[in-house]
Amino acid sequence: MPVLRGCSALVIRCFKRVEHAADWLTGAAGPVFIFLCWVLISLGGFAFFDVIGRGLQWSIIFLLSPILVLVPLNLYVQYYLVTHVPPGFPSPRAIALSPNPIKSSRERWLTLEEGSLFRAETWGFRRLGHHAEENDARMDTRGRRVRRCRKCDGPKPERTHHCSVCRRCVLLMDHHCPWINGCVGLYNQRHFVLFMFWLSLGCWVFASLGLSNLWESFSFKSNWTYYTPRLAYTLVYILCIAMGVAVPVLGTWHVFMVSRNETSIESHDNSWLEGKAKSEGMIYLNPYDLGRRRNLELFFNVGVNGYSRWTLLLPLVIPPASNGWSFPRRALPADAIVPVENTAQSLHAPELAEGLVSSHMNGGPNTMENGKAGSRYVMGDDGSFTDDEEGGGGWMD
Ligand SMILES: [Zn+2]
Ligand SMILES: [Zn+2]
Repeated sequence: MPVLRGCSALVIRCFKRVEHAADWLTGAAGPVFIFLCWVLISLGGFAFFDVIGRGLQWSIIFLLSPILVLVPLNLYVQYYLVTHVPPGFPSPRAIALSPNPIKSSRERWLTLEEGSLFRAETWGFRRLGHHAEENDARMDTRGRRVRRCRKCDGPKPERTHHCSVCRRCVLLMDHHCPWINGCVGLYNQRHFVLFMFWLSLGCWVFASLGLSNLWESFSFKSNWTYYTPRLAYTLVYILCIAMGVAVPVLGTWHVFMVSRNETSIESHDNSWLEGKAKSEGMIYLNPYDLGRRRNLELFFNVGVNGYSRWTLLLPLVIPPASNGWSFPRRALPADAIVPVENTAQSLHAPELAEGLVSSHMNGGPNTMENGKAGSRYVMGDDGSFTDDEEGGGGWMD
């Protein structure tokens, strides 16, 4: 069998090479994607004010003025922010947990520096309190052990993943996005979601107000007096329709995941675990799910202990509710009992045993042993169920 083993090693090596090449290409193409995105959104804005804007009646301009100001303002500044605010990288634990973590000059400029134009405080917004009670309530998060990343050898707090394109660990990593040439993570996901919202709105405003100009662009008898070339307008309009369908779908999916307090990576993991748990007759609980409303509030850092909801309308840098090293966790259902003896061995999916919590809803304490339990719960913990194999590493103290 040595031949077979040699062949399989060769195939694996080839796959790795292809994977590395794809990662390299994604990284190298990043600036091109960013340039393309700037060209397209600038062209869209120019065509709108040049072709559509000139034909609008004053009464409509007055009525739509909030949209006509907020859409371009948010579209360009949110895109600038999502490409410039770093997603957040785990620095050594002592620094990360200190009240004033040391940041790179770019991070300091964008988030912390007094008087920065993007800072919410500069515009009179204040955080209404602290979220400490949620962090402290359920678990001594500071006492938790932190994993070590096998790839970059740095600390890997819960919900952190290693990005093979960025070649480093990213706090609360959602995904690597070529359109922003970087990862979407803890610090920039808010900008990412808001950018998608304003882009969708912009596309629909363009498509609905610019329809008559589209017919005009098709008719070569008409007098086309705009700076934007006829063909460019037609192409931008078609692109607006395509983006106006695709981006809201993606955006809604992201908001749906946010409302469940899961990242794209976790969503994949959670649905896999949900299926596994179901096949064992159990209910899977996402440990970070604090209820739809609270999840959304924490993500946008508004509402209780957060900033004003008005900040959602403005392209401002709002710090995330969490420091990226620990996250508030949900309470166990009232009928759950921890720990469960002798149940782990009977599971067909042993990976679920670690997070097993149980219920004796339909009977006395012996019901479980008789195999007739009501609801049984299994709750994830630290992402250790489905940690990415190569970036997993061990524990660090
Ligand atoms: Zn790493
Ligand atoms: Zn990345």
